[in-house]
Amino acid sequence: MRYISTRGQASAPDFAAVLLAGLAEDGGLFMPASWPQFSAGDFRAMRGLPYAELAARVMQPFIGPAIPYETLRRLCHESYAGFGHPAVAPLVQLDTNLWTQELFHGPTLAFKDMAMQLLGRLFDHVLNARGEHVTIVGATSGDTGSAAIEACANRDRVNIVILHPHGRTSEVQRRQMTTVQAPNVSNIAVDGTFDDCQDLVKAMFADAPFRQEMHLSAVNSINWARITAQIPYYVAAALALGGPDRDVTFSVPTGNFGNVLAAWAARRIGLPVARLIVGANRNDILARFLDTNDMSMRPVEPSLSPSMDIQVSSNFERLLFELVDRDSVTTAAAMREFRTTGKMPIKDPAWQNACALFQGFRLDDAQTLDEIRALHARTGYLADPHSIIGIAAARAQVGASEIPIIAMATAHPAKFPDAMRQATGITPALPPRLADLYQRDEHYTVLPNDLAAVQSHTRAFARRNAA
Ligand SMILES: *Cc1c(COP(=O)(O)O)cnc(C)c1O
Repeated sequence: MRYISTRGQASAPDFAAVLLAGLAEDGGLFMPASWPQFSAGDFRAMRGLPYAELAARVMQPFIGPAIPYETLRRLCHESYAGFGHPAVAPLVQLDTNLWTQELFHGPTLAFKDMAMQLLGRLFDHVLNARGEHVTIVGATSGDTGSAAIEACANRDRVNIVILHPHGRTSEVQRRQMTTVQAPNVSNIAVDGTFDDCQDLVKAMFADAPFRQEMHLSAVNSINWARITAQIPYYVAAALALGGPDRDVTFSVPTGNFGNVLAAWAARRIGLPVARLIVGANRNDILARFLDTNDMSMRPVEPSLSPSMDIQVSSNFERLLFELVDRDSVTTAAAMREFRTTGKMPIKDPAWQNACALFQGFRLDDAQTLDEIRALHARTGYLADPHSIIGIAAARAQVGASEIPIIAMATAHPAKFPDAMRQATGITPALPPRLADLYQRDEHYTVLPNDLAAVQSHTRAFARRNAA
C-alpha cells in the first residue's frame, strides 16, 4: 500500500515509511493511496474472532507486504495480551439500543493504549529489520505520554523522552509515567507549562543537526499507524451487534479527531455505519463546525475532560481531504488559512457532506457532572468525564431509531477520582494491577524551561543507552 499526503507534495512507498515518518514532508498527513474494501462476507467471516485476530485481519490491507502477516498477527497478540479484560474492548449495555465499548483496559487505562501498544512493537520490528534506532520525543499533559512510555518501555530499538509540565499533571497521570522502570525511558519534568513542553519538543525537531544525530521520531496522534490500529474495535463492536447485516451508530468523545476518524475509516472500508456523533466539552470547535459551518479557533479552556481540551484537531485535515474529494490544493489552502486567520474556509457542499454523516454534541462541566451522576443512578455504571460525553450524546439520539448506538468509553473512571467523587460521592478503585501505583517509586529529572538543558540531557541519555 502506497501512501499520499493530504497536501499533495509528498508520498511514502509503504506503511513502514509512514510509521517512521509521522508527518509528511510537505506538512500534510499521510493517507492510503486507495481505500481497501471489505465485503459483507469478509466481515461476517470475522464474527466471533478473538480481538487480536480480528485486528490483524482488519489492518492487513493497510500494512500490505511492509510487515509479513504472521508477524502482524504475533504483534497484535502480544499487544493485547496484557489488557485487563479478556475481550480487550468489551461492550456493556446501558439501555435499549445503547451500548458503551470500553477501550480503557490497557496498561494506562485510556484508549490510547489500543493503538500505542501495537505502535511500540511495530516500531521495534521495522527498526530491527532496518538496523536502526530512534529517540522518540514528546510532550504530554497526561494520557499520550503515559501510553507512549508503556508502549516503548524495554523496546530494543527505541529510546523515549517525555516532557511533562512539573507539578501540572494529575497525580495518577504523572505516576503512570514516572513509575515505569526501564533503561530506555526518560521523564523530564519541565519548570513550565504544557505549551512550554510542546515548544521545547518543536524546537528539538527544528534543530536539524540534533534531529539527525538523535534520530528523533514521534508517536503523536497524526501518525497514520495509530489511526489504522483504531479501526478494528469499530469493526468488532459492529459485528457483535449484528453488523454488517445491520447498521450501527458510533458516538465518540473527541479531541484531536483521531478516534472518530478511525470510525469514519471503518465505514469507508465497507462497514455499515449510519451516523457518527462527535462529542465535545466546552472546547467545541468541531460541534460548531457541524452546527453552523463555523470552524473558528477560540482560546483553549480547561475542562473536566482534559484530553479533549483542544482547538486544533489535527486529524480533521484527513476528513477535510476526503470531503473535498481528495483535492490536495484545496486542503493545503484551507489549512494555511486556518493557521494564519484562525478560521477554516469550508465550502457549503463539503460541509453538507460532513453533516450527512456527522453530528456534533457538547457538554459543559456542570452538565458533565450531572450526566455522570444520572447515569450512575440509573444503571450503576461509572463513566469518566470523557466517556460520559459520548454516552450522553448517544442517549440524546436513542429512541429516534432502532439502530444500536455505541458510545466509546475512552478512559477508566479511576483516572479522574476528583470529578467522579464530585459527581457521585464514589472514588472508583484502580484495577488490581495498578492498585499499588501510589506506593511505587518515581523516576524523573526536573529541568528548567531551557532548550540547551533539555537537549544535553537527551543526548547524554541516548549515549548512555547506546553504550
Ligand atoms: C486522547 C483522548 C480523547 C480524544 O481522542 P482523539 O483521538 O484525540 O479525538 C478522548 N478521551 C480520552 C480519555 C483521551 O485520552
